[in-house]
Amino acid sequence: MSGSLVVTVDGPAGTGKSSVSRGLARALGARYVDTGAMYRIVTLAVLRAGVDLTDVPAIENVAADAEVGVGSDPDEDRAYLGGEDVSTEIRGDEVTRAVSAVSAVPSVRTRLVNLQRALAAGGGRVVVEGRDIGTVVLPDADVKIFLTASAEERARRRNAQNIAGGLPDDYATVLADVQRRDHLDSTRAVSPLRAADDALVVDTSDMDESQVVTHLLELVTQHAGVRR
Ligand code: C5P
Repeated sequence: MSGSLVVTVDGPAGTGKSSVSRGLARALGARYVDTGAMYRIVTLAVLRAGVDLTDVPAIENVAADAEVGVGSDPDEDRAYLGGEDVSTEIRGDEVTRAVSAVSAVPSVRTRLVNLQRALAAGGGRVVVEGRDIGTVVLPDADVKIFLTASAEERARRRNAQNIAGGLPDDYATVLADVQRRDHLDSTRAVSPLRAADDALVVDTSDMDESQVVTHLLELVTQHAGVRR
């Protein structure tokens, strides 16, 4: 395997970002950094401390002390808070509902961005996935990818996941929620969700997961001259 390679993958929820980022890391023999998991770990610490989500100084205090750990193997989804394995708990509804409020706090972002840069700097090949990786965290990355999909397609995928998970079939509500979150994410003051000027934008609306991974691998090969 040759040299160092930093690939960033950003985009909104529902574009298949996490699974294709893992697939890409696997295909490249790269490490994988899930930055969303890091925001979720801090959010879990905040919830466990019983802090009110409007109390920014209290969130800042908890976040400053939270020991955040994530695995870097694309085949394992491991997250740690102070050494405790919280991989399942950070995916629960409570954390999902609270994570936007916590991730909007500037000092939380500063701390996690520093940690993300340190993880990416470990050498070798790495795929770093999030919302602001190509724009803020690693603006000098070798290849930047921004995944999109229509709001309708993302809502369709999430509604299908909900149904599979035993929740009611409610496409209209899911679509309204996707549109509301798109608006919040792209208009927030700190690190709004947008593609870096030099990002390669890939619309995944009409592709399945393996087609996206194959396409991204081609892009990385073309743009960074990487051999598999
Ligand atoms: O990707 P995931 O859904 O796990 O991310 C959880 C939340 O963390 C996002 O909804 C977003 O609010 C926040 N996040 C962020 N910046 C990142 C990654 C995630 O603000 N780089």
